[in-house]
Amino acid sequence: MKKHIKNLKKKLKIFDPKLKEECGIFGISNTKDASALTALGLHALQHRGQEGCGIVTFDGKQYFSEKRFGLVGDNFNKEKVLKKLKGDYAIGHNRYSTTGENTLRNIQPFFADTNAGGIGVAHNGNLTNSISLRKKLVDEGAIFYTTSDTETIVQLIAKSKRAKTIDKIVDAIFQIQGGYALVMLTQTSLVGVRDPFGIRPLVIGKLKNSYVLASETCALDIIGAKFIREVENGEIVLIENNELKSIKPFPPRKVRPCVFEYIYFARPDSMLDGKTAYEHRKNLGSELAKENDIDADIVVPVPDSGNAAALGFAQSLKVKFELGLVRNHYVGRTFIEPSQKIRSLGVKLKLNANQSTIQDKKIILVDDSLVRGTTSHKIVKMLYDAGAKEVHVRIACPEIRFPDFYGVDTPTKKELLAANKSNSEICDYIGAKSLKFLSVNGMYRAIGFDKRNETYPELTDHYFTGDYPVKPIDELGDSKITQLSLLNTASNN
Ligand code: AMP
Repeated sequence: MKKHIKNLKKKLKIFDPKLKEECGIFGISNTKDASALTALGLHALQHRGQEGCGIVTFDGKQYFSEKRFGLVGDNFNKEKVLKKLKGDYAIGHNRYSTTGENTLRNIQPFFADTNAGGIGVAHNGNLTNSISLRKKLVDEGAIFYTTSDTETIVQLIAKSKRAKTIDKIVDAIFQIQGGYALVMLTQTSLVGVRDPFGIRPLVIGKLKNSYVLASETCALDIIGAKFIREVENGEIVLIENNELKSIKPFPPRKVRPCVFEYIYFARPDSMLDGKTAYEHRKNLGSELAKENDIDADIVVPVPDSGNAAALGFAQSLKVKFELGLVRNHYVGRTFIEPSQKIRSLGVKLKLNANQSTIQDKKIILVDDSLVRGTTSHKIVKMLYDAGAKEVHVRIACPEIRFPDFYGVDTPTKKELLAANKSNSEICDYIGAKSLKFLSVNGMYRAIGFDKRNETYPELTDHYFTGDYPVKPIDELGDSKITQLSLLNTASNN
């Protein structure tokens, strides 16, 4: 019996349906170079996911699909591959996942044949009720092919009784909950959807006669497309016959974009609410400087994630900014490695102290965030080993005390350092002389204080406040049984 449970647990780990995805999505209409432009767009969005990538195209009659493990540049770099992806319409996806099954089956875009024709779907985010929905669908006879929550959306679209594909999509999004941005390719249109709170990002661009949809504006820049606007929260944009129609099926609501896009995830040159992520991060650094209480010889960023915040911090304090750490650019993001053991190793692989700049110096080390504390723990030691006199750590966001369920890969509460330790305990753990986090008010001042109407826009900020805009239903419900039934489905495949 014990062995049986052990096996089940092992399988559950492999088929963990709570895939945490912070992916990049892209779509383009009406252009001869649809597959090549999509490959370029995905390349610009590579920071959002490096595990796998895929492109689906449509040529008016037929869909074409290529999905690969690894980076876009290594997979969609040849004329031969791009030529296979025929048609003037394309969507693409970069996958990021640290848990769950790492197979080609889970790489997107997904494709399905419905009674209204084919549909390709690419998804960024996490559904908070996908396990409950999946259980219902399986009970009704649906067969799941992947362990991704995106397949739930595809199944809901396919199952809808409505006649038109766009109505089937509306039907499906009324049932899903969570943080999501979707691009879809129907037989007549390119479709973009953003969740009712606008937690996950999606922007619209224009390139000659083509419309472009992308997770971030940096994917528009790379192909020379003009940024038009963000897809609004709860909005569906339907691009058909070269025209963009907006459908708003949900009651109007205030947008609550995810604060972590501002702090960490978006590429620094991407626009978020009228400013680049770089500017927002410099502002976070400036606010952090206002809350600072010590002098130092130099400010050192944790590259690259802490660069902008450290610059803003140093410029505000008028302290010298030095590159005290050198990053090896040929290793991926630390979090991409799936186990804690490899993650710890990853930090060593990635960074080295720049001895000449830090020797005998009193240093303020700035990073954008502290999650498990792995990075800070390693780096503080690295700086002391290389001769630093004092290392003080300043984090350009508040303490992360609550897990995420909308698609950013933050770990469970058990692993979140600030959820379990006081600030002085964290400081001891990372071995710093002092430690300070930016306050929640400071963060809001940096990102969102709107001088025109003197109001703070709301952000999805549950990481720090525990205020979840969408209830994590699966986490609260009877998901254990569902997971086991899913396990049986998956292992029987
Ligand atoms: P940790 O080492 O666990 O404290 O994580 C903090 C480091 O991970 C910081 O340098 C961040 O830039 C980075 N980070 C924060 N959030 C994420 C995320 N969702 N995915 C990948 N890396 C992250």
